[in-house]
Amino acid sequence: MSYQKFKADYLFDGYQILNHQYVLIIDGKGKIIEIVDEKNAGDDIQIFNGILSPGFINCHCHLELSHMKNLIPEKTGLVDFVFGVVTQRHFPEEEILDAIKNAEDEMITNGIVAVGDICNNTLTISQKLKQRLVYYNFIEVSGWLPQIAQTRFNRSKEYYDAFSRLPTSDFRLCFAPHAPYSVSDELWKLIAPFFKNKTTTIHNQETIFEDDLFIHRSGDFTRMYEKMNIDFSFFKPTGKSSVQSYADKLSNAKQVIFVHNTFIKENDIEFLNIQSLQNNQQ
Ligand SMILES: [Zn+2]
Repeated sequence: MSYQKFKADYLFDGYQILNHQYVLIIDGKGKIIEIVDEKNAGDDIQIFNGILSPGFINCHCHLELSHMKNLIPEKTGLVDFVFGVVTQRHFPEEEILDAIKNAEDEMITNGIVAVGDICNNTLTISQKLKQRLVYYNFIEVSGWLPQIAQTRFNRSKEYYDAFSRLPTSDFRLCFAPHAPYSVSDELWKLIAPFFKNKTTTIHNQETIFEDDLFIHRSGDFTRMYEKMNIDFSFFKPTGKSSVQSYADKLSNAKQVIFVHNTFIKENDIEFLNIQSLQNNQQ
């Protein structure tokens, strides 16, 4: 078995940063054998500038939207951003596929080895088949109107089935609700059985208006629904924060990646900790 030895200015072992006196040893397959003091490492040590580190994980990516980089104005607030994304004109497929490849190249250059990727179509499949990175595919569902739940689910299920044919996809595939303000109870019910023993993800409390909607049925989301001509007279506020209103719908999941959390409050985090303890005890 041939071994390789590396050292650098620093060595991050995933828990702590070690100094240049430590040497990382890997076997011929790239598996890490051990980290030893340079004094005991023998010779043939390859020396690098900078930090040696485990590969990075990009736990939230929208690879299929790579072609939209720099297209949507910044600092307009979430509502106008979401509106911008959903109303963008059609792009030629070649342009989209090119941007997907370039974005993947960029991730590899930046040391990323695994990606949690949000999917609303199947355009990333051809790139993922090259298996240059490990992907966990989150098939995103959205639909705020209860009457479109089944149609939206059926469409996403087609994508789900297409991704399930990728190698290793069985366990790296799950539905993901887009956000609390864009998934109806009816749609939640259709996807919840698929969470069992899987990791899923949701955009959470990205703006203060999310809590406004669930607590008081007010705020900027009401403007968004009006702008999109969505009749949301069916929606009853829960009187609780956004995450506390929907978290129990995720109780089936093994793990949940809450994304953004810009406006999450301390008592929301306490609530989630208690809920996850209860789920683990079941
Ligand atoms: Zn996102």
